[in-house]
Amino acid sequence: MNLFEQYEVWFVTGAQLLYGGDAVKTVDEHSTRMVEGLNASGRLPVKVAYKGTANSSKEVEAVFKAANNDERCIGVITWMHTFSPAKMWIHGLQQLRKPLLHLHTQFNREIPWETMDMDFMNLNQSAHGDREFGHICSRMRIRRKVVVGYWQDESTQRHIAVWMRVCAAWADAQQMLILRFGDQMNNVAVTDGDKVEAEQRMGYHVDYCPVSELMEYHARVTDADTEALVQTYFREYDHDPSLEDRSTEAFRKVWNSARAELALRAILQAKGAKGFTTNFDDLGQTDGSHFDQIPGLASQRLMAEGYGFGAEGDWKSAALFRTVWVMSQGLPSGCSFLEDYTLHFNGRESAILQAHMLEVCPLIAARKPRLEVHFLGIGIRKSLTARLVFTSKTGPGCTATVVDLGNRFRLIVNDVECIEPKPLPKLPVASALWKPMPDFEVGAGAWILAGGTHHSCFSYDLTAEYWEDYAEIAGIEMLHIHRGTTLEAFRKELRMNEVYYLLNKALC
Ligand code: MN
Repeated sequence: MNLFEQYEVWFVTGAQLLYGGDAVKTVDEHSTRMVEGLNASGRLPVKVAYKGTANSSKEVEAVFKAANNDERCIGVITWMHTFSPAKMWIHGLQQLRKPLLHLHTQFNREIPWETMDMDFMNLNQSAHGDREFGHICSRMRIRRKVVVGYWQDESTQRHIAVWMRVCAAWADAQQMLILRFGDQMNNVAVTDGDKVEAEQRMGYHVDYCPVSELMEYHARVTDADTEALVQTYFREYDHDPSLEDRSTEAFRKVWNSARAELALRAILQAKGAKGFTTNFDDLGQTDGSHFDQIPGLASQRLMAEGYGFGAEGDWKSAALFRTVWVMSQGLPSGCSFLEDYTLHFNGRESAILQAHMLEVCPLIAARKPRLEVHFLGIGIRKSLTARLVFTSKTGPGCTATVVDLGNRFRLIVNDVECIEPKPLPKLPVASALWKPMPDFEVGAGAWILAGGTHHSCFSYDLTAEYWEDYAEIAGIEMLHIHRGTTLEAFRKELRMNEVYYLLNKALC
């Protein structure tokens, strides 16, 4: 099922009764045609539902309250066809709890030079009606996206589509449970944070789940299900034919990986969780049901299915990956949880190898992943370990992380360019190699000054615009490191933001 089909975005047209009932009827007809046109464009991932004209304070309040209470509604688009005195929006805007997009457009594309008269002027007043509406939003400090452009134009529709994807991910996050199997990796600061504040600010809920409970699910996995999943692995992934030899230790590791995947999926489904974290020092008791290796292959495959994942207890990355995955639905190039692994200094081509011990999502693979089993000497159970090995596609992308600064969350976004790596015959893991924008020195420098993690959530298809919309909806700080970034300006932004968030307590 297309995840977006469960949602809709409401379209509310501002007008007033000053010009008489006939004018409002025409406004209504125009709005209906515009919404039909938007839906027929094929460029919007979420259906637009036209909710009529709002001509008074009471009508605005009624439609916004209805939007708040409708589970399908993930955001509201407003547009002022005529002048719509903005005091009538105050009470409604005070109550609106759904993301807001203000569309500054006009029903007609061009001025009808030959025929335009005063009646036409009175009816088509977006030019000043939208400014009046914008004023009240700014005066009330209403967070919103403003999209400016003709409603039939591709660029206008693309901006709306981005916002819709973010709204869908936002709605998804308001009903998101992340399960932590084991705690944070001891002593690690950057992946920790305030889970209470995270739920207030970003919506998702984080629970601890004892590994012993996961092991109850593990103990119930059947051989028939395991056999079927192992056959799926052999069908879906390149592998050495010897891996199918049932007498080998390597086959047993593949088999046990399938059991781990089935156990994890079963408990996530049973608890309605959309993401999880693991800790490589907590894999169950050796004398009971337990994982005999880090469940890396399971994490890789569950990520591709849309489960958020964060390694070493990193619940913020688990939630953010799920959000990235939802935003990216139907887009072609894929997304993954990644970790800054090793640096490659090479002048202007300096780059960072992105990998993890094992847990990289196969959605970013350039070619069919290869199923391999190798020794892994990290964690409580050093063992031969199954994993998918691949390198990522090349090309531009965008990576993001959220850190807790003590008084607020900060979203850090970096545009990156994935480049072709050299073969890594002695490091059989999935990986990507990227140059951070604008270059390694400034990109990595800015990321470190901002306090960014070594973990991040990467996508080829998302751009900073998605993250701007996300940060605006959540009301969190966002820093974007891009082609035009200089360290001098970035340091100033960091210092200015400290003051802004100190003064603006509502956002902290
Ligand atoms: Mn890690």
